[in-house]
Amino acid sequence: MENTPDCPRCGKPITIDRMTICPACANELQRRIEWLGQIGMPTLQQVAYRKARFGQKAIRSGNKAFAPTPFDLEAQQVYVTAEATLQQTGGILDIRPLGYDRREQPRTLRDWVYLCPQLVRQMPQLVRTPGAAGMLDRIVKACDMVSAKITRPGEKRLVGVCTNCLTFRPPVRTPIYATETDGYAVCPACGTFLTLNDVRLAYLKGAGLLHITRTQSEAARWVRENTGVQVTGKDLKNWRTRGKMPSTRHVEGPYWAWNIIELLECAEARLKTGNR
Ligand SMILES: [Zn+2]
Ligand SMILES: [Zn+2]
Repeated sequence: MENTPDCPRCGKPITIDRMTICPACANELQRRIEWLGQIGMPTLQQVAYRKARFGQKAIRSGNKAFAPTPFDLEAQQVYVTAEATLQQTGGILDIRPLGYDRREQPRTLRDWVYLCPQLVRQMPQLVRTPGAAGMLDRIVKACDMVSAKITRPGEKRLVGVCTNCLTFRPPVRTPIYATETDGYAVCPACGTFLTLNDVRLAYLKGAGLLHITRTQSEAARWVRENTGVQVTGKDLKNWRTRGKMPSTRHVEGPYWAWNIIELLECAEARLKTGNR
């Protein structure tokens, strides 16, 4: 662990052997690629082909001479560019079949549907390549472009405040707006890539909303929706009867006042132990 170099992107120490970026940047790289694969690219594909229309109504005039073009060319350009960025990332990892672009950079011919999960699987190798920091910068840029193209204007709601800006001295409360289906957002003040579940939960805790009154199965659903961890009502009952939820109180009938921190701790424990 002596003489670990600093991350070329953020300057923090690289604490893991042979990695070329720090663990936080490595984590961001993975989340960005997951976002592109699960939300960004599939949504942009719909936009590019006008299957989804954001912020505008379909033109229903009878004038056939002014029918809209079948594609959103600008969205298509972003789509192609973002996919090329993923293909270059795959090129670094030598994913076959491999071709070369105009600047002689290796670039796999695979599409984003194949690449996104594959890149996540090969993350341990990716974060050990010399170009990982530059690659992350390009992926970030691609995410920003894609995100700008797929965001439906006027439908954003306050989710919470940026968890990174909150750590400043003095703390800064930067509001984060997002649509209901967004899983991620970029802080407009500090540029941090945020997982909205974290933002929501931090907001709930900060607002002192420490208890939610729910039945057991509703509480389990709340945990699943807010953490993505597959928790059942039975799991909650087990934890509770084993004395792991001392602040959770019985209210009436099937209703309990669940302590949010305890719910989250149980979700975390569940995540660590897998299916147990
Ligand atoms: Zn870093
Ligand atoms: Zn921020």
